[in-house]
Amino acid sequence: MNVIVVGAGIAGLSTAWSLVKAGHTVSIVEQGPIPNPLAASGDHHRIIRRAYRAGTGYGRLITEAYEAWDEMWADLGENHLDARGFVCVSREPGDEAEEYREGLEEGNFPFELLEPDAAVERWPFFEAGSFRYAYFSTEGGALHCRKIAAGLATWLRANGANAYEHSKVTEIDAEAGHIVLESGETMQADRIVVAAGAWVLKLFPELGGELRTFRTALAYVEPPADLKAAWEAAPVILDVGGKTDGYMIPLTRGAGMKFGSAYTRCRPATPTGTASQCRARVRRSATCFRRRSPASRSTR
Ligand SMILES: Cc1cc2nc3c(=O)[nH]c(=O)nc-3n(C[C@H](O)[C@H](O)[C@H](O)COP(=O)(O)OP(=O)(O)OC[C@H]3O[C@@H](n4cnc5c(N)ncnc54)[C@H](O)[C@@H]3O)c2cc1C
Repeated sequence: MNVIVVGAGIAGLSTAWSLVKAGHTVSIVEQGPIPNPLAASGDHHRIIRRAYRAGTGYGRLITEAYEAWDEMWADLGENHLDARGFVCVSREPGDEAEEYREGLEEGNFPFELLEPDAAVERWPFFEAGSFRYAYFSTEGGALHCRKIAAGLATWLRANGANAYEHSKVTEIDAEAGHIVLESGETMQADRIVVAAGAWVLKLFPELGGELRTFRTALAYVEPPADLKAAWEAAPVILDVGGKTDGYMIPLTRGAGMKFGSAYTRCRPATPTGTASQCRARVRRSATCFRRRSPASRSTR
């Protein structure tokens, strides 16, 4: 079968990879470069974790996800998962960190529960007294999505797929099986897969009632010098508890240390926030971290 995949983010690229492996003829069409730094998967890395809310079934699906990643590393010849595990801290009863812990318990997925003192001793960047407990799971880490996208684009081209960059799709006729590019060119296929991420409503405005996009604020930061070694060895931090939907990825494989926080979660996308609004949001998610080590504090 002839298939066009619209959008070369992680969803489009991995769909194209699967289709090529299943013997189909694939063309992937991307409005920007591949990888596109503006895509949701165009950043350095994203978290993979076992912890999701109970009752969602996501925790179980991660088993399949790990199998699929392993198959991909074999094809790419390189493993882009830094499996450093993840830690969550709960700051308030019923917070998101606690919900994720319940999800791990429901699925019988192993994790280690730590009292605050034990957590601070193990990860000295945590602020003592700012959280109720922490838990650690080895099943998680940082997926280096920019490298994955670049590797998949190379693999696809080497395996007979067409990968068109800077080719924005402006129209899709699902019945006729053809797409129109901004340049006016048209392409025809037996099937069209649309993996346009947050741009999908531009192609299918009628889905606006069902689909919502939301933003997250993120910042790359320098760790304090005296805590750098601790941050380098840290797991990813999946949730910082409390009312803030914050997460962070420590220094890994040459990418910077990243703090993120949901910005307009569950609301339709609004115009981009200002840099200072984003900074304030990220700062709020960082309240359970120390700015310098306890040792250097006591000498001041
Ligand atoms: C800041 C942030 C942090 C996140 N953290 C995590 C995390 O830690 N763990 C996790 O699992 N998930 C995380 N997510 C979610 C995850 O990144 C996304 O679900 C995932 O990257 C979506 O991939 P995608 O391929 O669907 O979309 P995208 O990566 O956005 O790809 C869509 C592609 O389609 C292209 N495109 C769109 N319209 C057209 C068109 N008309 N013509 C041609 N090309 C087009 C775009 O240019 C883009 O390259 C995060 C998301 C964000 C924004």
